[in-house]
Amino acid sequence: MNAARLSLGHLGTPIVRLPTFDAFCGASVWVKRDDMTGGPEAGNKIRKLEFLLADALEKGANVVVTCGGLQSNHARATAAAAARLGLACELFLRKTETDAATDGQGNVFLDRLFGARIERITAEAYARRGALLRERASELTRRGARPYVIPEGGSNAVGSLGYVQAMHEIREQIDSVGSELPSSFDAIVMACGSGGTAAGTAVGAKLFELADRIWPIAVCNDSAYFEAAIDRIMGEMGELDPSLARRAEVRVYDGAKGPMYGVSTAEQIDAIAFIARDTGLVLDPVYTGKAAFGLRELVKSGAIAPGSRVLFLHTGGLPGLLAQTGAFRDVLP
Ligand SMILES: *Cc1c(COP(=O)(O)O)cnc(C)c1O
Repeated sequence: MNAARLSLGHLGTPIVRLPTFDAFCGASVWVKRDDMTGGPEAGNKIRKLEFLLADALEKGANVVVTCGGLQSNHARATAAAAARLGLACELFLRKTETDAATDGQGNVFLDRLFGARIERITAEAYARRGALLRERASELTRRGARPYVIPEGGSNAVGSLGYVQAMHEIREQIDSVGSELPSSFDAIVMACGSGGTAAGTAVGAKLFELADRIWPIAVCNDSAYFEAAIDRIMGEMGELDPSLARRAEVRVYDGAKGPMYGVSTAEQIDAIAFIARDTGLVLDPVYTGKAAFGLRELVKSGAIAPGSRVLFLHTGGLPGLLAQTGAFRDVLP
């Protein structure tokens, strides 16, 4: 793998054990702290942006255009990295009735702080986001700018290289002198919202012999939707670089997505509060809380054997949590 890469994240992130989290999940869980890949830019997206923005700079871009939900962590990380690199940033954010109350808070606040140009669009407009981004890019080109389009979540073959690289990082952590990490895992589990993290992880897990199976936990849509999306990205990665053609088995679990994207069940909110109180680990109601809950359900059902060695990717999401403090009203002292 010799794609261009910028150094934007604070890597390599720690891998930690938390007895209470093990008990909650029913497995031996190693938590990869990708919530610590940076300060305001933290989370899984900065790993993808290391490759995407290297590509953008190579192509001479001076403005990046991307999209996401109103509280998109990807949009916020892109705005942060663009500001750092001196690139302009334009965001198309889907604003629904459910998340209208969080406008101006959390990730959106940070987007504005980083000087991004924000256009709020309806769910109907968001359904044709690919075309919308292309149209905006054409308009910018006509005006003499040099746009670079990043798809939702940074989830294409180039962005997903960030998680192949993450698996390489974990292999080096395992093989380093004095490491107490197991040499491989029975499964890798992570939240799944656009599929790029899962695609890169599946390819990297195979390449660096970390695990034979990965379990992305859907935070919206369903298993069939994400298995197709992940498969498409992995296919593109294989075309980009034949050494990336092999991959671990991917099985998407869609039983923990809660009422809808961005909204957790009362039980999931309770679990986030309990885990924070007992371990200091902060999960979020949009992604990682659902992922932890999904892992627990997979162990309960036997799909992941109880006591298995599981690598859990903590993908970040703190600003989204800070935009949803109201959801925790009943569970805090
Ligand atoms: C985007 C995101 C995910 C999902 O990653 P995808 O590559 O989009 O599937 C998980 N957790 C957090 C906190 C995210 O922001």
